[in-house]
Amino acid sequence: MLQYHSYTAENLHNLPQYGEIPEEQRHVIKTIASVYPFRVNNYITENLIDWSNIPADPLFRLCFPQDEMLEPEDFARMSDLVRTEAPTEIIRQAAKEILLLQNPNPAGQMELNTPRIDDEVLHGIQHKYRESVLFFPSEAQICHAYCTYCFRWPQFSGLENLKFANNDITLLVNYLNDHPEAKDIIFTGGDPMVMSTRQIKKYIQPLLTIPTVKAIRIGTKALSWWPYRFTAERDADELLGFFEQIVSSGKHLAIMAHNSHPREIETPEAGEAISRIRSTGAVIRSQSPVVQHVNDDAEIWENMWQKQLQLGIIPYYMFLERDTGPKQYFGIPLAQAVSIFTDAYHKMSGLGRTVRGPSMSCSPGKIIVEGITEINGEKVFALKFTQGRNPEWTNKIFFAEFDESASWIDDLNPAFGHEEFFFKREMREIYNYCW
Ligand SMILES: *Cc1c(COP(=O)(O)O)cnc(C)c1O
Ligand code: SF4
Repeated sequence: MLQYHSYTAENLHNLPQYGEIPEEQRHVIKTIASVYPFRVNNYITENLIDWSNIPADPLFRLCFPQDEMLEPEDFARMSDLVRTEAPTEIIRQAAKEILLLQNPNPAGQMELNTPRIDDEVLHGIQHKYRESVLFFPSEAQICHAYCTYCFRWPQFSGLENLKFANNDITLLVNYLNDHPEAKDIIFTGGDPMVMSTRQIKKYIQPLLTIPTVKAIRIGTKALSWWPYRFTAERDADELLGFFEQIVSSGKHLAIMAHNSHPREIETPEAGEAISRIRSTGAVIRSQSPVVQHVNDDAEIWENMWQKQLQLGIIPYYMFLERDTGPKQYFGIPLAQAVSIFTDAYHKMSGLGRTVRGPSMSCSPGKIIVEGITEINGEKVFALKFTQGRNPEWTNKIFFAEFDESASWIDDLNPAFGHEEFFFKREMREIYNYCW
């Protein structure tokens, strides 16, 4: 029998390893969990976390809140409220005040990416890059467990007007029929793999007969957080059968696996899930951000990519932590990310060099930090768009002054004395105000 236990701040004392968590850390968990989402399950606590090494263990840090995730004054404020058992409403209000200052909606997702038909706003759809459309199914706006560094935290924080979600598949079908340039439809969340197979079919089946849709992508952390979704869950076989049906309809099915650490794919459960998914003809690709305290080490990435290749997973993106939420705790400088990427990439054979990164998903597009170099005596970052809000920007190379501590595009200045980056004028027109 498959056992599922989910732990939150409220029932954490039921966790069999509760005794291993020092008293002070328990308070930290409770405090931070009153602001950011926290949820973990028995698969993770039994198979992924090394309890002899907490709190330093990277998988512990990936799931369990740390005090530095809040600025010291915010932490002190929440800590007092939690310690004095303030009324829930007061705690919620304080948390909301803090959250609204954490840039909940980075890169203009809400204003710039959400399309309209006539004057109707299509909530739960994002269409930023010409070739691909994101869809956020309402039932998928939760996860099997929450990653502490998640940039999608407003989806889970009760900030309803900041949340993307839709359950109207007709809306999506109509939109895709009107936009034949959109080749890929990307299901995201949350985690679409929290849905039952019946719900997943409801969303995907109607897309299989749209000839302009070439690929279905599903972004998921289930291989790491709950591999039983593909093996032991009641409707797992039906799910894999549906994957086969998607593939035989002539579409490419891509499972975009969120994988932060090699340990996540080393368990027998993950191994079985991976091989079952691959046997349907679906392709698994991996992407995740490089973050401090979890995977800010070239050896981790080398081991992870190597392991992925052996299991038949294609390394796809290394991202940079977005400028939202607890970025001050998890983010790392661009220069450090380039060095981690390069050192790991060096050790891969050509099969592993399919990966791109480190990449910033920012308002103008996806920008790769290709490297650090010197041109006419000036030390610069070489940057390249792999996706642009204007499709013309794709593959364009540009340069920024080197800055050791810069960790996001907003921290950078154009190289060679240029006044602004080439895309700024157009971005201003798009925003219609100074950016
Ligand atoms: C990353 C992303 C995509 C997909 O980009 P690919 O480079 O094709 O993987 C699509 N839409 C948005 C908004 C994205 O951030
Ligand atoms: S699985 Fe993805 S969406 Fe869910 S908490 Fe982790 S990073 Fe966020």
